[in-house]
Amino acid sequence: MIIDAHIHLDQYDEKERVKILSSLEENHVENLIAVSFDMESCLKTQTLCLADSRIKPAYGFHPEQDIPSFDLLDKLFSWMEQQVTNMIAVGEVGLPYYKKLESKEPLQYKPYIDLLERFIEFASKWKKPIILHAVYEDAATVCDLLEKHGVSSAHFHWFKGDPAVVERMIQNGYFISITPDVLYEEEIQELVKKYPIERMMVETDGPWPFEGQFTGLVTEPKMIYYSIEKIAELKNITTEETERILYENTKMFYRL
Ligand SMILES: [Zn+2]
Repeated sequence: MIIDAHIHLDQYDEKERVKILSSLEENHVENLIAVSFDMESCLKTQTLCLADSRIKPAYGFHPEQDIPSFDLLDKLFSWMEQQVTNMIAVGEVGLPYYKKLESKEPLQYKPYIDLLERFIEFASKWKKPIILHAVYEDAATVCDLLEKHGVSSAHFHWFKGDPAVVERMIQNGYFISITPDVLYEEEIQELVKKYPIERMMVETDGPWPFEGQFTGLVTEPKMIYYSIEKIAELKNITTEETERILYENTKMFYRL
């Protein structure tokens, strides 16, 4: 049994989504942690979750985009307050690492940090896990904020970072999740060797497309079985044991 710990289910086209949902049972996929991108995406995720209880919703605002007006953000936060009983986590939130790399002008980070802090305060207030998009040097900034607000239930999805921040995250008990790129990215393989399996989950970040053996394929939760095989090899434990640990970690972290 597996759980996809991070998927943008609302971003698939209808036909692909129906195909994924109708094959969950045969692929032994128990749950999908469906993250949201913005207000519109939150509403779509909510609709999907109401129709299928295997889909567990996380609401937030993805950092790799322009920040909307205060007014729109206030609307998002007050809507999220109404959802606290049925939302499983805050997410996807974080810092715009790739937008910063791509932008011609220096990107103003302060508004993104302030917004992230507001999400962290929300997670702390409502005792929700938080799903973070924070890689490389951004991860240290996010650790500062999490520590400041005493938030320990943090899931750094598709994480990449330097040894110092990896060590800090392990010490703080934060979780990471591994995507199918573990099959071909040496950097991720090294991370898997180093990070405790007790703090690890698996995800697709679908519909994000993958390379290597997955080139040209629609990203689906069943790809996680290949990731599990690779993690087992890197950790030198059996595939069955790896699958069980990763499944139980996810159940425990998301209180499923
Ligand atoms: Zn994502």
